[in-house]
Amino acid sequence: MATFVELRNKAKMPIVGLGTWKSPPGKVKEAVKVAIDVGYRHIDCAYVYANEHEVGEAIQEKIQEKVVKREDLFIVSKLWATFFEGALVKEACKKTLKDLKLDYLDIYLIHFPQGLQHGKDFLPKDDKGNVIPSKATFLDAWEVMEELVDEGLVKAIGISNFNHFQIERLLNKPGLKHKPVTNQIECHPYLTQEKLIQYCHSKGIVITAYSPLGSPDRPWATPEDPSLLDDPKIKAIAAKHKKTTAQVLIRFHIQRNVVVIPKSVTPQRIAENFQVFDFKLSDEEMATILSFNRNWRACLLKEVSHLEDYPFNTEY
Ligand code: NAP
Repeated sequence: MATFVELRNKAKMPIVGLGTWKSPPGKVKEAVKVAIDVGYRHIDCAYVYANEHEVGEAIQEKIQEKVVKREDLFIVSKLWATFFEGALVKEACKKTLKDLKLDYLDIYLIHFPQGLQHGKDFLPKDDKGNVIPSKATFLDAWEVMEELVDEGLVKAIGISNFNHFQIERLLNKPGLKHKPVTNQIECHPYLTQEKLIQYCHSKGIVITAYSPLGSPDRPWATPEDPSLLDDPKIKAIAAKHKKTTAQVLIRFHIQRNVVVIPKSVTPQRIAENFQVFDFKLSDEEMATILSFNRNWRACLLKEVSHLEDYPFNTEY
């Protein structure tokens, strides 16, 4: 089984990467170093995770120690929604590059399709507590994203949390110069995303699955929410393979040719989540896992759901 997925720019994207959302400063540096030591070459970052400077320190140390070269690594980051307007796109990318201590990114993603008013807050709100949109749309931001490719600051550009109508708008944009290489979306057995995956694959867009373990450490989790890691049926499949539930949840994506980015700051789990290339789920097990779909989302960003480009008010 390949450990890479080929992108439309012919780059090879490692199929398992390390997530870094909620990885606290003080812990994320060690997490990235451990990940590189155990074989990860793909790190998923974002400006809005507020820890890129520390991720950058880890990368720099591993390059200085000659454990890896820059070109062995595949580093992804994301443009937050408050930076959609003109020069802000480039400024945001340069800030990320500076924090990560890199001179290029492998992929830069539009983090979320709905643009938000620029300012000091990641979720700018008016007096009534409503989140304020930006005038610029993702189509405006995309034009500058394309310039980043042409200037060599990023090797490729992509999208995250886009529904298929939004992807269609992007692909039909007059004068489109660079197509998105990936759409990074929430995906796991409770949100199997069959239609969106099929649509993206038909357009040559690779899927990256986020929150593959159900994001148990998301700040808004409630005890009533379903828990993938505690699902007895997934646990039973794992036991059959003498693997952990997390390993089955990760392997599920690999067999769909979907890139997957589990987050952990626990060294033993970081290693465990990469031990997923030595077993195979049967076709029947894959079908069973797909049948667990219940269209449940860990990440809704509900505060934005009243705005036009909120992506999750449609089927897919
Ligand atoms: P996740 O990877 O589904 O789950 C992370 C949680 O699972 C952490 O609490 C972690 O704990 C725990 N965990 C990790 N490995 C485990 C194992 N083997 N056994 C038991 N528990 C384990 O959640 P996520 O962070 O939401 O998603 C992954 C990454 O996707 C993010 O970090 C981020 O890079 C990306 N993401 C992107 C978006 C987007 O809008 N584009 C949204 C969400 C996430 P410890 O860390 O304490 O070990």
